[in-house]
Amino acid sequence: MSVLILGMVALTFIIVFAIPAWVYRDAEERGMNPLGWALLTFFAQGFVGLIIYLVVRGQVNPIYYEAVRYEKESRIRCPHCKDVVSLSYDFCPRCGQRLREDCDNCGTPLEPYWRNCVTCGEPVNRRKTSSR
Ligand SMILES: [Zn+2]
Ligand SMILES: [Zn+2]
Repeated sequence: MSVLILGMVALTFIIVFAIPAWVYRDAEERGMNPLGWALLTFFAQGFVGLIIYLVVRGQVNPIYYEAVRYEKESRIRCPHCKDVVSLSYDFCPRCGQRLREDCDNCGTPLEPYWRNCVTCGEPVNRRKTSSR
């Protein structure tokens, strides 16, 4: 019986201290206020605060990760100097390499990752940059 009580006390300590510690690190990674959320889960006694945190996190999180992912995906490497440049650039800021070509068929400026022109459907011919 006393072992069971001891176990429950230990479990309570884990809930009271481990959950705010986990919330602190998790909130920090997601760009949320870590100390505020750790204190909330601590004072709301573990599970209640954790549930509130998980609900709020579920709403904040996708937007934040979407922004981080967009930031990563909107970067490419210059075909000439291999420097990391933004997808929106027309020329490499380091070596001046043209990053965007125009469609041979209709003249639409092509994004570097396109395989076909979005205006006329013509397959993208990469001879100008791939020959370097
Ligand atoms: Zn370059
Ligand atoms: Zn085209």
